[in-house]
Amino acid sequence: MSDHLDSRLFADIARYAAARRAGDAERRHAPEASYAEQVERFQIALKDEGRPGDEVIRELIALAEPGLATMTGPRFFGWVIGGSNPIAVAADWLTSIWGQNTANHLATPSASAAEEACRQALLDLFDLPRESSIGFSTGATMASFTCLAAARGEVLRRAGWDIEAEGMFGAPPVTIVLGEEAHSTIFAGLKYLGFGERNMVRVAVDRNGAMIAGAFAEAMECVAGPVIAIAQAGHINTGAFDPFGELARVVKARSAWLHIDGAFGLWARATPTHRHLGEGLELADSWSVDGHKWLQTPYDCAYAIVKDRAAHARSMQIAASYLPSSSDDARNPSDYVPELSRRARGFATWTMIRRLGRRGIAEMVTRHCAQARLFAQKLAMVPGVTIMNEVVLNQLVVHFGSDAQTKAVIARVQADGVCFVGGAEWRGKQVMRISVINENTTEDDVARSAAAMLAAWDAVRRAN
Ligand SMILES: *Cc1c(COP(=O)(O)O)cnc(C)c1O
Repeated sequence: MSDHLDSRLFADIARYAAARRAGDAERRHAPEASYAEQVERFQIALKDEGRPGDEVIRELIALAEPGLATMTGPRFFGWVIGGSNPIAVAADWLTSIWGQNTANHLATPSASAAEEACRQALLDLFDLPRESSIGFSTGATMASFTCLAAARGEVLRRAGWDIEAEGMFGAPPVTIVLGEEAHSTIFAGLKYLGFGERNMVRVAVDRNGAMIAGAFAEAMECVAGPVIAIAQAGHINTGAFDPFGELARVVKARSAWLHIDGAFGLWARATPTHRHLGEGLELADSWSVDGHKWLQTPYDCAYAIVKDRAAHARSMQIAASYLPSSSDDARNPSDYVPELSRRARGFATWTMIRRLGRRGIAEMVTRHCAQARLFAQKLAMVPGVTIMNEVVLNQLVVHFGSDAQTKAVIARVQADGVCFVGGAEWRGKQVMRISVINENTTEDDVARSAAAMLAAWDAVRRAN
């Protein structure tokens, strides 16, 4: 059975897509159905006979919808979830329609050129060293992994060890120095690279979760041998930035490597209002940042930025006689990411940068930070509600009365469905976490959501 081009099917999907997005603002933001219910519903894939394609697509929609969260909605504040802009979705559709295997530049000049254009634009936007290479990865987790692989190879090379030839066994021990509140995905990347807890030195952080520069300097003094330091631009709970200038000075003196996890926070560099938070981060050696968070591209989209292109390519390059190699003037996409075959991630990124321009990006990021402060103002007015962090960016964490009450408020807000927020533990307390990062969020959405949170708090307080 082969499915011919069915323009009716594509037209139907386009109509459905427009209606689905038009409904985002007023749809419940939490899913209706549970995971267990959805597992039951989806268990019908394998039958002896196939079914007509258009029926299967209709079936997929009917089955999936109850178990979908409105993550693209304007009042979805859980985790750090971008809005998946419709123009970028259109570019993403074209990416699938064109079906380019974006491994190398000879096979697909356009997909490779889009990445090269985005590389230059992103380095300009973030004001990072213009010679840096960028790998287009699935997310910041893989972007950090990629950057840290380059770091591992380079710090060992400086210690006289060729990891490509000798491997990890018997190599000089590498120490990882990082903040006590580094993002969990950093530890995942380190695990894939062969580093464990014993290879890490944790540095104390201040009240907002940023590394203390003095503590970092002390930690660096106490370690011998090759070092990779990891800092963050945008703490997952507070949005805090580490003191990069001071960290970078210490790192340079040791000829160590400094990586910065800037999954969402790096975008502050693209604004006049919040750029100062990231002062000095240009002195680092590598940076990871997502497109599918603040740039509003659909998943999967992130950037592994490495100042030393040779170190980056050494750690990722795939060589085979049937694959064209890259040269200084022709960038092979697969030289900078773990994958060979993959989608053309540059098209959606190119589209969003072109659509918003420098000013559009800056205004959006600045607006979200103002909306986060508005949330803090509205919530902090009410007795029993505590904003736990200094709101420096777009993230805030809120405590309601006690840990149990905070959990109850989160559950009520989710059940109510007007907005969506999740919980976390921070500084030994249960908190509600709010991330403002969807381009469609308005001040009215903030007001409605704050009202829903306060109504939930009122109900929880009365019940106790
Ligand atoms: C989201 C996030 C990550 C992980 O990014 P993914 O795109 O989910 O892989 C890493 N670090 C921080 C600070 C994040 O917010």
